[in-house]
Amino acid sequence: MKFCQNCGAELVKGQRFCTNCGAEVTQQQTVPTETAHRKKKKFLIPIIIVAAFLLLAFFLFTQVDTSSKTADAIGTAIKNKDSAALSKLLLQTANL
Ligand SMILES: [Zn+2]
Repeated sequence: MKFCQNCGAELVKGQRFCTNCGAEVTQQQTVPTETAHRKKKKFLIPIIIVAAFLLLAFFLFTQVDTSSKTADAIGTAIKNKDSAALSKLLLQTANL
């Protein structure tokens, strides 16, 4: 049941004007869809940041991984006294 905001008289559903005082009945407005869209956009930003960090971490990890692999290969070449492989690896590292 609705009541008039001006005089407090009972209002019939769908009534636009109060029968007691003639004041216009203020309709409760529904939440604009724009607000929902804004919330979605705000929610997207942290996802993009997290994705960027993950991508950066992935690239850093793969770079560290390849350099450690090269270091391992150099160590193996030194152990085997393989000078040809060692010079090749050192040239590869210098080019990086
Ligand atoms: Zn009224």
